[in-house]
Order: sequence, then structure tokens, then C-alpha cells
Amino acid sequence: TVRTRIAPSPTGDPHVGTAYIALFNQCFARAQGGQFVLRIEDTDQQRSTPESEQAILDSLRWLGLDWQEGPDVGGPHGPYRQSERGDIYKTHCDELVEKGHAFHCYRTSEELEQLREGLREAGRTSLKPSDLALPEEEVEKRRAAGAPFVVRMNVPESGTCVVEDLLRGSIEIDWAQVDAQILLKSDGMPTYHLANVVDDHLMEITHVLRGEEWINSAPKHKLLYEYFGWDMPVLCHLPLLRNPDKTKLSKRKNPTSILYYQRAGFMPEALLNYLGRMGWSMPDEREKFSLEEMLEDFDIHRVSLGGPVFDVEKLSWLNGLWIRELENEQLADRLIDWMFNRENLLKVLPHARERMETFGDFAPLVSFLAAGQLPLSEESFKGNKLELDEQKKLLQFALWRLEALRAWDRDSIFQAVKALATAMEIKLKDFNAPLFVAISGTTASFSVMDAMVLLGPDLSRARLRQAID
Ligand code: ATP
Ligand code: GLU
Repeated sequence: TVRTRIAPSPTGDPHVGTAYIALFNQCFARAQGGQFVLRIEDTDQQRSTPESEQAILDSLRWLGLDWQEGPDVGGPHGPYRQSERGDIYKTHCDELVEKGHAFHCYRTSEELEQLREGLREAGRTSLKPSDLALPEEEVEKRRAAGAPFVVRMNVPESGTCVVEDLLRGSIEIDWAQVDAQILLKSDGMPTYHLANVVDDHLMEITHVLRGEEWINSAPKHKLLYEYFGWDMPVLCHLPLLRNPDKTKLSKRKNPTSILYYQRAGFMPEALLNYLGRMGWSMPDEREKFSLEEMLEDFDIHRVSLGGPVFDVEKLSWLNGLWIRELENEQLADRLIDWMFNRENLLKVLPHARERMETFGDFAPLVSFLAAGQLPLSEESFKGNKLELDEQKKLLQFALWRLEALRAWDRDSIFQAVKALATAMEIKLKDFNAPLFVAISGTTASFSVMDAMVLLGPDLSRARLRQAID
């Protein structure tokens, strides 16, 4: 049976690119009666967080995707979180060392720095086992002294590696470009390459559909499969999503977090539908289709390799189609679920009531909370004391600070903004003015800190980004 997987790293917001790759993996497997697995690749302990993992799982579920095996649903090939599989990687790495396919490398960071310098001078790009080798006595000396080491894989010095890709055919990559990749780090944790290959094999993955950014890793993976004596899954590298200007999709130009689209009032069916149109189309080219319809007509060979453009305006248009096909009753339920419920009202009221004389004042006062993007222009910032350039600079600094914030509560936001205003020697009042415009779009609203808490991190950051552009 066909088995596919998505293997996200929980190091940030749930990315629309992750959902796009997940969608194609799910369709590919299910269309052939196979299974789709979700594995969490959290070997980067510095950057991985449980919150990010939870947000990825929740967002993919919100979109309507589902997997037969994963950290939340279990399955026969678990655990599905790489941080819980340390012994497995260690054993497999030892096996490679015993067979002579990998070696302990005791090179210090200073030595590596020097070696790389030498490479640059020689016009070469990658460190080979022969570059890294140390005299046997030296290795013994360092080992005896308990020096830290990593495990690296052997790689050919020259020649060409041919990787087969389901959509691209044969891809040739020169071995000269391929490093003696680290497999196990000095702290005993595996790198992506080792863990990914071992898990795909043990989890019986037959087809790897992933972003084209991983093509350059394929030679290392192919070699690892050979070293282990395992069959390699079929590889299929999907084109990356692009901004309308054709550069790789980036949050600076487009919101990339699924949470943004959720908070800004997009329907999950419409977002999933739009992702299904990224490099793929239905046989009859129709624009609006459901996940079930996509599944029924799925054919991976209809993926086109030209970079698909993720265009929020196009998505909004499609979302409109979906909204108009809902019955009024259904639309009412959706709106209540999304925003207009008692719980949300109770969160907003404490901030609005002081400014209300009639109920009629309420909606205008809080409308910015229910909007996606605001119609801002340079005009909007004219009433503020600082020059426009100065205001934009300050918004950029504020954005950087707020992107680094882990906790999104009034106090954390306030402290971050205040520290920045102090560092820049700007009065808090003058500092807040552009924030206020960027966040609420109006001058008749309540405290910008409260507004940011209510908007949440995704929409708040997106508004700041929008205001800077
Ligand atoms: P960076 O700016 O460092 O490249 P990023 O925006 O690519 O960051 P990551 O955290 O590296 O974000 O990626 C998160 C996930 O989203 C990864 O699984 C990655 O494959 C996927 N992803 C990122 N950008 C794209 C894209 N343009 N198209 C498809 N998938 C993407
Ligand atoms: N953990 C990798 C990622 O974050 C998985 C890449 C792959 O699918 O092999 O995208």
C-alpha cells in the first residue's frame, strides 16, 4: 500500500506551505487507498516548542486534513515525535560506523573554520572525509581526553549522483557539492538527514512528496538508503509557493501563518481549495472544489512545476464563492463561531463600554477587530507627531520585538513596547501613535495594547507588516 507523510518541524507558526504539502500527500495516498502519516521532526531542541506543534496539528485539522497515524492519534510505527526516538537513531548510526559508512569526527570548530577557509581558496564547496581526517594517534588522543565528537557520513569525492523524481525525471547533482554530512551531533541528537531517512524507512513510507527546497538533500538520502541496504521511497519534489512577484512566499510580503487566515475570517474549505490550485488543477479546470472532489480526481502528474503564486486577492475571491454558496442559516453559524459569540463580546465590552452612549456606538468602535486587512494609506499617519519615515522605522522595530514575544498578553506587549521606546528615546505617547493607526486604522478606538491582545498575535503582526510596506 501507498504510504505518504508530512514531517513538519514545530519551530514557528503553522505555515500555509506545510498545509499545501500535507494536502498533496493526503490526496496522493488516499486516491490510491493508502495511508497518510504525520510525523513531528523536532530534533532541533533549541527552536522546537510544544506550542508550535499543537498549533500545527490544530491548524491542519481546522483545514479538514486528517492522518491515520501521528503523535495525537498513535499508530503501529510510533512514537511519531523524533525527540522520543533518540535510541533508534543512535543504534542506526552505530551500525553505519561499524560498516565503515560513517566516522567519528573530532575536529574542533576552529579547525573547521580553517578547513573551510582552505576550501574557499581552492574554489571548492564541500568538506570531504579526506579533508576532515586526522592522524590515528591524534584521534586516539582526543578520544582519550573525552573530546566532543560528531558522526559524519562518508561521501564520494567526485562523480555525479542521479536522483529520480516522480515529476522531474532524473536529476543530476555533482558529488563535489555534497558535504560529509553530520548525522549525529555532539549532544547525541540526530540531524534532519539521518532521522528523516531512518523514520521514512521504519514508518514504511513509499512516497516522499515534499517541497523542492529539499532536492539538494536527496543525494545524501539516497546514499544513506544504500548504506543501510534499504529500498528508497519514490521522491517527488513539489514546487514552492511564491509571492505575486514570484519570489519564495515570505511573511514580509504575504501572511504565511494559517492562524492569520483563520483569524481574518477565511473559510477553511476555501483555503484548502486554494492550496489545491497551487500547481494543480481539476481535469475540467474548475476553480471551486472540495477536498472530496479533489481526492476523486487526483492525479499527481497534473502538477505543473512552474512556481504557483499564492495571491491573497485570488484567495479572497474564491472565499467569496464559498460564502455565497452557504445557506443563510449556515453562514450565521459560521459567523457566530468565528467572532460574533457571547464569549468574544464579553472580552471586548470592558474596553468599549466607556466610550458608548448608545448601542449604536458599539459596532463602529470595534469594527477593526472583525476586519482582516485595514485600508491604510500614508494619509492615515499624517496626524501623528513624528515624520512618516520615523514612524515606519519605529513600526519595523516594534514588529521585530513583537515577533520575538512568546507570550501574548497585555503586560508582555506593554513591556516590549516600553523598552523599545526607552531605548529609542521616544515618548511612549508618540511611540504608540503609529502603532495605534497600524492596529486599529482609526483614531477613535481604545488602548492599542488592549487592541493587540484582542486581535491576537497573527493579525496584529500582519497589520504592522502591512503598515510598513
Ligand atoms: P525562512 O524565511 O527561514 O525560509 P520559511 O518561511 O521558509 O522560513 P520555515 O519555518 O522554514 O518557514 O518553513 C516552515 C514550513 O513551511 C516548512 O515545512 C517549509 O517546507 C514550508 N514552506 C516554507 N516556505 C514555503 C513555500 N514557499 N512553499 C511551500 N512550503 C513552504
Ligand atoms: N522537517 C522537514 C520540514 O520541516 C521535512 C522535510 C521532508 O519532508 O523531508 O519541512
